[in-house]
Amino acid sequence: MKQCRFCGAGLERTFVDLGMSPLCETYPSAADLGRAEVYYPLHVFVCDRCLLVQLEQYQSAEKIFGDYPYFSSYSDSWLKHAERYCDKMVVQFGLNQQSFVVEVASNDGYLLQYFVKQDVPVLGIEPAANVARVAVEKHIPTLVRFFSTQLARQLADEGRCADLVLGNNVLAQVPDLNDFVEGLKVLLKPDGVLTLEFPHLLRLIEHNQFDTIYHEHFSYFSMLTTLRILEAHGLTVFDVEELPTHGGSLRVYACRTENRTRDIAPSVRKVTVDEDLAGLASGEGYDCFARRVKDTKLALVDFLVTAAQQGKSVVGYGAPGKSATLLHYCGIGKDLIEYTVDRNPYKQGRFLPGTHIPIHHPDRIRATKPEYVVILPWNLKDEIMEQMQFIREWGGRFVVPIPTATVH
Ligand SMILES: [Zn+2]
Repeated sequence: MKQCRFCGAGLERTFVDLGMSPLCETYPSAADLGRAEVYYPLHVFVCDRCLLVQLEQYQSAEKIFGDYPYFSSYSDSWLKHAERYCDKMVVQFGLNQQSFVVEVASNDGYLLQYFVKQDVPVLGIEPAANVARVAVEKHIPTLVRFFSTQLARQLADEGRCADLVLGNNVLAQVPDLNDFVEGLKVLLKPDGVLTLEFPHLLRLIEHNQFDTIYHEHFSYFSMLTTLRILEAHGLTVFDVEELPTHGGSLRVYACRTENRTRDIAPSVRKVTVDEDLAGLASGEGYDCFARRVKDTKLALVDFLVTAAQQGKSVVGYGAPGKSATLLHYCGIGKDLIEYTVDRNPYKQGRFLPGTHIPIHHPDRIRATKPEYVVILPWNLKDEIMEQMQFIREWGGRFVVPIPTATVH
């Protein structure tokens, strides 16, 4: 039997079974199209003992992140989010030239660049070499390594413990959760602060965001499990913010448990009570999700089939990782979505995995004037609708697939 990544209990309760899907961050080129693609199950379990929602890891992290095509700096709203975070941390925790900030999974330096601008010393840790290189070119000190307790001990031995350690959207992608969280604590100065941002499982469930489930995301966190995991490693959560990013995220603030100087904010209790009311405190509370996911599929397929029957042209916008799950689970191919576009030059000229829907430059939409544009990264829908509002010139409409297909 499969075992829980955190507590080791056997996994028996299905959260949702999304069938088979290829690895979502592999974008085949034209030359790859004749080759076989490997599909893995997307069968998500919830641990009956600790309630961690999780997916089995099928591929080594090294393989997934060796040449990772996700560059954070391609999203304007994400950059603004990062800048606001830096300003807030500098003020709230009095960071200055004597402080030290470490970001785990620092990507292309999209966030640390704002600390650098304020003369706060930083270190990024990023395993994907091609992404880390971009950060180094921007003069952001970056270690090309996977984060682990061993690496944290090495930095601690060199006297490089941090006043602020941060990890944004990384916890889900950690194969060895206990080793990773232990490392975060080791890296903290005695009075240091840890912040972690991750999509909130409560929002995933409420808004049917099943497409945020993919092979690169091994774990899905509620506040209840996060408290439990951090506590097991000597970390206490003293504050939490609910953020609109990625369809609804949490930003938790934690310190070493032995640091008794911080009061626990009321928001910590508020979020755990919300989860309790939604049924997330017991295994049975997770059982209703699968049926709602199926309803979302039926609504989207119904829309696309009707549009096709009426001879309307439908294209996509964006080629995010989540589109692989959405399209495979719903059985949508080139016959229903002709092509998609993406601002990331790495993806242009390539294809979505499995479905082989071609990815073009966004200008393609202006040239072909489709009737419907399906926004695949629906978490950025406002930003995308604003950038692409010119489709109104020929009567084009936007389609947002999640939580249920709607036309805008
Ligand atoms: Zn467990």
